[in-house]
Amino acid sequence: MSQSTEVSEPTAEPVARRRPALSPSRASDFKQCPLLYRFRAVDRLPEIPTKAQLRGTLVHSVLEKLFALPMPDRVPARAKELLEPAWAELSAERPEWSELFADDKPEQVDKWLESALKLIDSYFGLEDPTRFEPEACELHVEIELGSGVLLRGYVDRVDVAPTGELRVVDYKTGAAPREIGEAKALFQMKFYAVVLWRLRGIVPRQLKLMYLTDGQSLAYTPDEAELLRFERTLEAIWQAILKAGKTGDFRPNPSKLCGWCDHQARCPSFGGTPPEYPGWPEPDAGEETPIDRAD
Ligand code: SF4
Repeated sequence: MSQSTEVSEPTAEPVARRRPALSPSRASDFKQCPLLYRFRAVDRLPEIPTKAQLRGTLVHSVLEKLFALPMPDRVPARAKELLEPAWAELSAERPEWSELFADDKPEQVDKWLESALKLIDSYFGLEDPTRFEPEACELHVEIELGSGVLLRGYVDRVDVAPTGELRVVDYKTGAAPREIGEAKALFQMKFYAVVLWRLRGIVPRQLKLMYLTDGQSLAYTPDEAELLRFERTLEAIWQAILKAGKTGDFRPNPSKLCGWCDHQARCPSFGGTPPEYPGWPEPDAGEETPIDRAD
């Protein structure tokens, strides 16, 4: 999958030099439940994605490929043609994903692919991709704040108007009710707004969330004072993570979101026992997975 990269300082070996960074997904995890953060970023316990999450990853991949086509070709029929090859590519990259369908009949897989197609159709109801050229899709961004906190993530799409105004776009394909995900989605968008503001010196004009499950979108305009406050929030989250990381004191914070947590069996709030604390990971903690990016 092709990805653009934008970092604060050019580097010849961006992967080899990775150091601990905060991503929007892991920052949200810590805010929601410090123990969930630990399980994902420190213990790195495997999680089996759901078919709905895989569908989100597939739809993101198709939209990225769609924007790689010449503008007049970005029509629903071409998007449909991209679907099966995109799934073949993803399942070749991650064979464990196709194993989720091992017991399914071909018609069940077809039905799942059709449900992905419905999300793509829903996308075409929200905008016409033959009418504009995004600046970047799946943009890898990374910036070190003045406080030394490193922020890292992937932006679904960045659009730049002829006037230079920036729009940050995120496609939402999750199966969770929209009201549950909305605060998390805005947190993620403000995270990207801070990163792009610090990288380019421009406050993004619009943060746009496109909900493909219900064909609606939400647009939000941040201002500089708000992003400054949000930057301090991110710094405070990172300091709290580092403090917990030293001692291993990541506490559970049960909520209705526990229903989406893979780790109830090892969570004290559900009668479980966490594995022994392995210590703070080096060189990286909190890397986002492709599933996080399509959430
Ligand atoms: S089950 Fe709930 S409280 Fe326990 S780790 Fe998961 S999110 Fe946290």
